[in-house]
Parts: sequence; structure tokens; C-alpha cells
Amino acid sequence: MQDEPIDKEDILKKLSEIKKLDYNYADGRILGSMCTEAHPFAKEVYCKFLDTNLGDPGLFKGTKYLEDEVIKSIGNLLSLDKAYGNIVTGGTEANLMAIRAARNHARKYKGIVDGEIIVPISAHFSFKKAADMLNLKIVEADLDDNYRIDVESVKDKITDKTVAIVAIAGTTELGLIDPIEEISRIAHENNIYFHVDAAFGGFSIPFLRQAGYDLPVFDFSLEGVCSITVDPHKMGLAPIPAGGIIFRKEEYLQVMAVDSPYLTVKTQSTIVGTRIGAASAATYAIMCYFGKKGYSQLACEVMDNTYLLKEGLENLGYDVVCEPELNILAFNHPEIETHEFAEKLEKLGWKVSVAKCPIAIRVVLMNHIKKSHIKELLEDLEKIY
Ligand SMILES: *Cc1c(COP(=O)(O)O)cnc(C)c1O
Repeated sequence: MQDEPIDKEDILKKLSEIKKLDYNYADGRILGSMCTEAHPFAKEVYCKFLDTNLGDPGLFKGTKYLEDEVIKSIGNLLSLDKAYGNIVTGGTEANLMAIRAARNHARKYKGIVDGEIIVPISAHFSFKKAADMLNLKIVEADLDDNYRIDVESVKDKITDKTVAIVAIAGTTELGLIDPIEEISRIAHENNIYFHVDAAFGGFSIPFLRQAGYDLPVFDFSLEGVCSITVDPHKMGLAPIPAGGIIFRKEEYLQVMAVDSPYLTVKTQSTIVGTRIGAASAATYAIMCYFGKKGYSQLACEVMDNTYLLKEGLENLGYDVVCEPELNILAFNHPEIETHEFAEKLEKLGWKVSVAKCPIAIRVVLMNHIKKSHIKELLEDLEKIY
């Protein structure tokens, strides 16, 4: 830091220069991100709540009310009458809270100390962080031929140390929905905590089902499901950071509560202390503004775009890895090795990402990718082919 203050104008000028290093969603070139530009109304609301701190909810009763309302609404979308949970920084923190609840619950009621969690190979890397921080062992369940969690493999991996089973509704790499109903039954029969990671799918599957898409049930209507992660900052169009963790029962929050002596509430179950309130307010606002109708429209639009890209790719002769369930498409060039193919696309200005299971180019068709961008992408792909 320099000694003398600098004029605001000069600082802003420098910042906008530096910001040019960033890619913009609006350019339609970011193809591998699960986040997108937040809705302008959500951003407007976010700014109004910047100083609120949900770590001390007694001081921010209004903002706490908004968080509770958001949790209630998301819970309702997921077939839960009375939901418990928090708006947190993202799917990573939400998953960490779920696994912490499962571990503490198993420790308290079953005396398990060296716990294990069963997660599919397709699980997000946040579970590796959770396992590391919580001193748990990760046991990976295999995938079936369609890249979904293999039910038999889950059964085989259950031991008397299993504290949680995880399945995914909208995998990070392929957007696929695991057979949640079957896993829920197995978890319930074995009295094991079952967490569903719908960080990506949570804000689209319920709306696509409403619109008539034939997608499997993944929510609290299945009695084995104990918690679900849903990220408003992905398909919910809320500003980053906004993740959601929803629990079926209050006891899952209680088993991780610690005393919080100097605050307006006696205990705290969240991981962070001072905690963002703006995310809850912005999520509340955007959910009101869109309604089920608005989200349904959004979810259907991005699905249309997904099919548009799929058709274009197949017409050109590219290999599409699997039939998309959500707005993620993975594909390969029939001859060029995937990383080399990705480099060619990067050189043409496309920011793509490469899936590892299976290795393929992965495009997440978020709201910022419009039909015109898909057309341009297909033109470039035609040149490469
Ligand atoms: C994005 C994602 C996460 C991680 O969420 P962050 O908001 O990046 O922390 C976890 N699980 C799944 C399935 C995801 O798609």
C-alpha cells in the first residue's frame, strides 16, 4: 500500500483496466462454467444487504427472516413441508455441512469414530475436501455403463463404519441424475445418512419435471433422503456466493451446534461465523421475481439450446458421450485426442473444460450461451472437423 490516498477516479480506471483480463459471460465464450451472470435485479438487491451479518441473526432479524423464507421455499420445491438449513457460500460448503452433520450424528447415536463416506466416482471434489477436514475415509462407488452410480457397488461398500452415502442429481461433468430412489431405499434400510448433491440440478430438475420432462424423483419425497445441496448461484441466477443446504430434520443442525457466547444466539451450526446476508436477500428476491413459471421457462430454454448443440454436433459427425438429462453436453472428436481438441478450441477463443470420466469436452449450456453463440461454435467445429 502506498502512503498517500489515491483518487477514486484513478483507482476505478485502473480496476477497469485489470478487469479486462477477465472473460465476460455475455461474450458467450465461457462454455465450461456452472455459474453465469446473475440477474440484474438480484445484483441490485444484493448491494442493499451488503452489511448484514447472519452470523449474528439477533441483530439482523429481517435478513434472517429472508434466509428462513428461502430455505422454506427451496424445501417446498424439494417436497419438504418444514425445511431446516442455511444459505452458504456454495455447493462446497453445503456438502461440507451435510457430511459434518452425518459424521456427528453417527458419532453421537452409533458411536462411529473412524467413519467412511460412500460417494460415486462422479462426485464433485468438494467431498474430498470434506473427508479431509472431517477425518473421514472416502470409499468410491463405481459407475454403471451409463455413468450413473452403480447401485450394487454401493451395497457392496457399506460397512459398519459408513456414516453417509452420497448420490448426485446433476453430475458436475455430465449433468446426469443418479438412481436416487434406489439408493434412498438402501440407505433407509441400513439406517445410514443419505445426502443428495443437487448443487447444479436443484434449480432445474423440479421445474423441468413440471414442464413435462421425464426426469426421476430425487428429493425429500424419498424417505431415505436426509439432506440436499442446491446452489442458487448456478441455475438460480443469484449472485455468487449463494449455496443452499436443506436438512430434513432439525437434529442434523443440532448435532453440529457449538456455543457462540458473545452473539445474540446461543449456538451456531454453520461453518463460518460472520456470514453473508446479501446472498439470502438476493436469492429471496430473484425467486419471487421469477416464480416457478420463470424458472421453468429458463430451464426449458437452456434444454432447447442443449438439444440444438447436440443435433449440430451429430450432424457434423462428432461423438456425443450420452443423451443429456440436464443442460450439459459432453462430446469428442472422432479422431483428435481430447486435450489437443480442447487446445484448438481455446485458440479459437472458446473457454472449454475437459471432463475426466469419460474424457471429453464438456459444455455447460448456461443462460449466457445464446443460440447465436451455438451457431458460431458449430461453425468453428465444422472448420476443425
Ligand atoms: C458446482 C458443484 C459443487 C460445488 O459447488 P461450489 O458452489 O463450486 O462450491 C458441488 N457439487 C456439484 C454436483 C456441483 O455441480
